Amino acid sequence: MDRREPAGRQIAELGLLRVLHVAAELYPWVKSGGLGDVAAALPPALSTFGIDVRLLLPGFAGFLDAFTGITDVARLRTPYAVERVRIGLARVPGSAPLAYLADHSGFYDRPGSPYADPDGRDWPDNHRRFGLFGWVAAELARGADPSWRPEILHIHDWHAGLAPAYLSARRPDSNHVTTVFTVHNLAYQGLFPAVLFPELALPPEFFSIDGVEFNGAVSFIKSGLFYADRLTTVSPTYAREIQTPAFGCGLEGLLRSRSHELTGILNGVDPSIWDPRHDPILPQSYGAENAASGKRAAKAALQRRLGLADCDDGPLFGVVSRLTPQKGLDLLLACFPEIIADGSRIAILGSGDGDLEQGFARAAAEHNREIAVEIGYDEALSHLIIAGADAVLLPSRFEPCGLTQLYALRYGTLPVVRRVGGFADTVVDATAVTLADGSATGFAFDDESPAALMSAIRRADVLFREPAVWLRMMHQAMAQDFSWSAAARRYLSVYRELRPDLAP
Ligand code: ADP
Repeated sequence: MDRREPAGRQIAELGLLRVLHVAAELYPWVKSGGLGDVAAALPPALSTFGIDVRLLLPGFAGFLDAFTGITDVARLRTPYAVERVRIGLARVPGSAPLAYLADHSGFYDRPGSPYADPDGRDWPDNHRRFGLFGWVAAELARGADPSWRPEILHIHDWHAGLAPAYLSARRPDSNHVTTVFTVHNLAYQGLFPAVLFPELALPPEFFSIDGVEFNGAVSFIKSGLFYADRLTTVSPTYAREIQTPAFGCGLEGLLRSRSHELTGILNGVDPSIWDPRHDPILPQSYGAENAASGKRAAKAALQRRLGLADCDDGPLFGVVSRLTPQKGLDLLLACFPEIIADGSRIAILGSGDGDLEQGFARAAAEHNREIAVEIGYDEALSHLIIAGADAVLLPSRFEPCGLTQLYALRYGTLPVVRRVGGFADTVVDATAVTLADGSATGFAFDDESPAALMSAIRRADVLFREPAVWLRMMHQAMAQDFSWSAAARRYLSVYRELRPDLAP
């Protein structure tokens, strides 16, 4: 990536497009889901197109400890009581872009996840932690770093959703900046009680239906959706779905009213992290030409690692997921008895909802040779499951884009998905037609029910026992190209539409 840096710098010197990406997560240091992967992959992909990209991150310990040579760019007095915020600048280790860090002592740098204490309770001052984060983004857009001022502020998810509101409040002197707001998951909204609104230092009239107010509360995501100049989300199907009551989380009216300014752009896969040809976790690297033997070796290693009985003649189903209602894994729990009765195995890695964790752990204790469950977050095991499973189970209630099915396709592991969001856009269901024309890459179902999931699992089971058909599907899956370069090209068109005067 560093090889591209001089070209990027030259273009910056010529004064071409400067874009600041604002995200609360960045793989591998801080990640609770797909947002961290996207923040790590999209900016470097954009810089290969000559965009001068930087990131803004909160000063979480994960970043402060990992980034070396952080230099002070500014110390700003904030409208948040008397607090000052330090803006540091450092190179993202192993990557081309530079990152600003918004740092205020004890504010971001806390134990637990980025958003919650070690017991899983949201920090009570999250409105100020992330309000300030959005405020810093707006200040950088207004020139807080005199040596680098972005022309486009690209904000990800609710965490920095107030940034466009702050810019709007400071018009006309922030008119030169254009804002893009990307929704990675509409269900996470950053909702706070109305009594906290005065602490956010926004004009009182911004707390209204034409502003940050949502059902009597302050909504950070609504701020992004309302005040940003352009909206994107992470798949074309999800872009349509969120304009409907079933998926719009109450924001479908606003999204419908901005339909012509909303674009769905699929995420990509970072091949430096997810590629069976160069994955150090695998016992044997493989590509399409030796997929069958490579996957056999991975399956054996996975079974050994998890203490599962060998099941060469039946499929091993994998799950790598946050255990939240969104992911629909309660449907899977109800299918366990039938899956085991069919002679299949299940390997699950995940953490989250206590009831689901306990339900899975109980099932694994009762059937420890057929079902393996690891509760926790484990990058290495996630790679082994994606490679070693024959199919991955993804029964999500909704799925903005989904990365797991993209990784699985690349590894020749066939996804069993509910036909929603990004799953609908990336997995081709095995039907008589798609099997005949060779386009089938997985199994899709519609109803949100254990019976519908089980029927898709059964279809997978049947085809698994026809090795030639399965291998053909594996090859077709591995031939899919979900590159960040394609995604970056689409974001570039959005930037061009917004700023035709500036585009390279
Ligand atoms: P979401 O962002 O809704 O969690 P995505 O499919 O977009 O779903 O992204 C999930 C990412 O997190 C993937 O990279 C997946 O491999 C990873 N992941 C989820 N749970 C775990 C876990 N327990 N251990 C390791 N990786 C996980």
